[in-house]
Amino acid sequence: MPQYDLHSHTYYSDGELAPAELVARAKAAGVDALAVTDHDVTAGLAEAATAAAQVGLRLIPGVEISVTWERQTLHVVGLGIDTTHAPLQAGLATLRDRRNERALEIGRRLTKKGIVDAHDAAARYARGPILSRTHFARFLVDAGHARDVRQAFLRFLGKGTPGHVPSEWVALDEAVGWIRAAGGHAVIAHPARYRLTSNRLHRLLHQFKESGGTAIEVVSGSHSRDDCLRFAHLATQAGLLASSGSDFHGPDTWMQLGRLPPLPDGCTPLWTQFAPGLTPEKPELLVSQA
Ligand code: AMP
Ligand code: MN
Ligand code: MN
Ligand code: MN
Repeated sequence: MPQYDLHSHTYYSDGELAPAELVARAKAAGVDALAVTDHDVTAGLAEAATAAAQVGLRLIPGVEISVTWERQTLHVVGLGIDTTHAPLQAGLATLRDRRNERALEIGRRLTKKGIVDAHDAAARYARGPILSRTHFARFLVDAGHARDVRQAFLRFLGKGTPGHVPSEWVALDEAVGWIRAAGGHAVIAHPARYRLTSNRLHRLLHQFKESGGTAIEVVSGSHSRDDCLRFAHLATQAGLLASSGSDFHGPDTWMQLGRLPPLPDGCTPLWTQFAPGLTPEKPELLVSQA
C-alpha cells in the first residue's frame, strides 16, 4: 500500500522548510504521495514538483484555503488543483491581501501591549507572500515573550487575547467552487480542531457536500485515535470520502511525516479518485477530475 500524506506546508506559508527539503524529508520518511498545501498560496508547488520528480515521489498540487463559516474559521484543502486556474489564483490573492491587512492590525495591537515593532519583526520570519500568526508566534518566542509557539497563541494570538484580530475569509461554497473549477477535490481539514457541536458538524458536512466537497480528513496529525474513528463514521454517514494528512509544518513540531495511522476500516479513501498509473515524471497529471 502506498503511503499518502495529503496535507503539508513549506516556508511559502507558515512551514519551516523549503519545498525541496520537505519533499526529501517526506521521501526519507517513506511517503509515496505527498500533497503540498500551503495556506492561501501555491507559490511553492513548482519547486516541490521539480524536487519530487528528482527523488521519485508523487506530488499532489494543493492549497489550504481559509474559510469563514458561521462566523468561525475553517480550513478547506484543495487537492489536484490546476495552479494556473485564474479564478482560483484571484481568490487566493484576495485572501493574502486580507491576511496581510490582518497582520498589520495584529502588529498594532501587540505594539499597544508594549511589544514594539511586532509586525516588522514577525515579517522577518516569513519567506513567502503571507504573514501568518505562526510567524508572530515564532517572533514572540525568540523575543522571550512566550515559552513556545503554543504559549504565544494562548497569550497573544488566540481567541480572547490582545492580539486576536477576527477576520472574514471566504465563504465555504465559494472556496469549494474555486477548487472544483480548478479541477481539484475539496477536503475539510482537521475537523476535530473546530470543536463543533454535533448539530453544527452535521450542518457543515451537509453544506460542504452540497457545495461539491469530496472528503474530510479522517486521519490528521492533530487527531486522536478516537477522532479518527469518529470522523471515519461521520464521513461514511455523510457520503464523503476519507483523506489523511499530517499537517506537517517543520521538523521541530509534533506533527511528523510518515507516521500516520492507516484509515479506519469502512471508509473510502480519497485516493480511489486519483488517476492510476501516473508517474512522478508527470506531476501535472496527478489527480483525476472530480
Ligand atoms: P493563521 O492562518 O495566520 O490564522 O494561523 C493559523 C496557523 O497557526 C495554523 O495553520 C497553525 O499552523 C498555527 N496554529 C494555530 N493555533 C495554534 C496553536 N494553538 N499552537 C500552535 N500553532 C497554532
Ligand atoms: Mn499553519
Ligand atoms: Mn489548518
Ligand atoms: Mn495545514
